[in-house]
Amino acid sequence: MAKFYTLVNQKGGVGKTTSTVNLGAYLAEYGKNVLVVDADSQANLTSSLGFDKRADRPSVYDVLVDGVSVRDVILPTAHQLLHLVPSAPSLAGAEVEVLDRPNREKLLSVALAQIDGEYDIVLMDSPPSLGILTVNALTAASDGVLIPIQCEYLALEGLSQLMQTLRLVRERLNPRLRIFGLLMTMFDPRTNLSQQVVDDVRQHYPKLIFRTVIPRSVRVSEAPSYGQSIVHYAPKSSGSLAYEALAQEFLARGGA
Ligand code: ATP
Ligand code: MG
Repeated sequence: MAKFYTLVNQKGGVGKTTSTVNLGAYLAEYGKNVLVVDADSQANLTSSLGFDKRADRPSVYDVLVDGVSVRDVILPTAHQLLHLVPSAPSLAGAEVEVLDRPNREKLLSVALAQIDGEYDIVLMDSPPSLGILTVNALTAASDGVLIPIQCEYLALEGLSQLMQTLRLVRERLNPRLRIFGLLMTMFDPRTNLSQQVVDDVRQHYPKLIFRTVIPRSVRVSEAPSYGQSIVHYAPKSSGSLAYEALAQEFLARGGA
C-alpha cells in the first residue's frame, strides 16, 4: 500500500514544488517507488521534471474532470523509480467545472486509489490557495501533509488559517489528516532573520519541524529550467545534500 502526502501552504513561492521534485527524486534514489502528482494549474512540477506544460497530453485535469484513469496519464521521468501525474494550464478551469459534483472534494483520492498498490510513496504538490484543488489534495493525503515554510519575515503568517483548513478537512473528509512535518526552506545563513524564523518555528512546533533545513541555493533554483531534479543537476550542491538529508529524515520518521 502506498503512503500519500501533500505538500501544502497557501502562501505562494515557499518551496512546495521544489521540495516535491527533490524529495521525490531522492526517495526514488533510495529505492522507493515514487509518484509525484501535480495538482496545480501553474504546472511547475510538470515543467520542473522536463515536460512542456503546454503539450497536448492527458493530465490530472482529465482525471479529475473527465474521469480518465490516472494510469493513463502517468509519465516516466529521468529517475527510474519516479513517475509523474502531470498538470496543464486547463486545470485552472477545473475548480469551476467540478463545483456541482457531489463528491467534488474526493475526486483525486478516488482516482489515486486505483494505483495504491503500485507505489510506495505518493507526493502531491498543491497550488497557493485553499481552493477545491488543494482540498482534493488534502483529502487524498491519508498519511499527512508536509508544510514548507520560507525562512523570511512573516513566515508564519497564514499558518493559523492553514491549520484551520486542515482541521475542517480532518473533520469532514479525511480523519487521518495530520501534519507529518514542517520544512524550513530557503534558509540564508548570512542573515539573523533566517535563524530567528527557524528558532521561532522550532519553539512553537518542536515535534513537527524537520531537523533538516533547506538552504537557499542558486543550484536549486536553476535546476527546474533544465527540467532536472537537483539529484541530476548538481548532486554535490548544498541544496542537494539538504534534500538528501530530508529524504533520510522522512524515511527515519516512518514516511514510507
Ligand atoms: P507556488 O506557491 O507558486 O506553487 P511553491 O511554493 O511551489 O510556489 P517553488 O516554486 O518551489 O514554490 O519555489 C519558489 C521559487 O523559489 C522558485 O523560483 C524556486 O526555484 C525558488 N526556490 C525554491 N527553493 C529554493 C532554494 N532552496 N534556494 C533557492 N531558490 C529556491
Ligand atoms: Mg508550486
